[in-house]
Amino acid sequence: MRTAIISDVHANLEALQSVLEDIAVRGLTDIVCLGDVVGYGPNPRECADLVRTRCRFTIRGNHEDALVAGAEGFNPFARKAIDWTREELRRADGANGDTDARWDFLVSLPVRHSDVPLHFVHGSPRDPVNEYLFGDDVRFWDQKKYSEIFGAFEGMLFVGHTHIPCVITESAEYLLPSELEGTYRVTTEKAIVNVGSVGQPRDRDWRASYAEWNDGEVRFHRVPYDVETTVRKIRSIRALTATFGERLLRGF
Ligand code: ZN
Repeated sequence: MRTAIISDVHANLEALQSVLEDIAVRGLTDIVCLGDVVGYGPNPRECADLVRTRCRFTIRGNHEDALVAGAEGFNPFARKAIDWTREELRRADGANGDTDARWDFLVSLPVRHSDVPLHFVHGSPRDPVNEYLFGDDVRFWDQKKYSEIFGAFEGMLFVGHTHIPCVITESAEYLLPSELEGTYRVTTEKAIVNVGSVGQPRDRDWRASYAEWNDGEVRFHRVPYDVETTVRKIRSIRALTATFGERLLRGF
């Protein structure tokens, strides 16, 4: 089975549309999403509708959590963006609108999903919505953290959340897609695959990131999109700080 795994769309419609086109060109029909569909970006309604209708399942991210629980741990700019996002999502659609279906979808997402031996969360297996798995944790091998994390699943775990695509293995390797020539072949060792972010990459490559599972192989893909349009939209919305747009141009 071939599956496209997307994550961290963050209401970036241009990036999501380009990724969905790339997925279609590759002949992939099964798509799953690891959360943070909204937050930071200018098109939460459109992105939620596309993800809801196109993905087989979607996992809850910390930005979906913040829609309901409030953005307590967020910085003031991210909190303001979530407050604006909540208003946008609750704004009535008109006669043929889908406001309730869209809202219900986003606030009732599961925190994990398994298609054994593949497992899917937004953050980590021990704190599925909020915990980050950063490269530095691996480089300086946080033994307690990673023995708990690798003890929490068998097989392969797909995550998002840091917006940095990579593979983390149980033997403390931290592998970037460039070091893997874009492809990771599964071994007997457990591995964590971060698929990167569609709508707000942070690895200094502005192009949208996603991954493809293809029968024992993970392929990382990057997709150019019309980033200037997204930046322009962000600038036109007062509640969204211009930094959210500028960082899209830098990919950081
Ligand atoms: Zn995110």
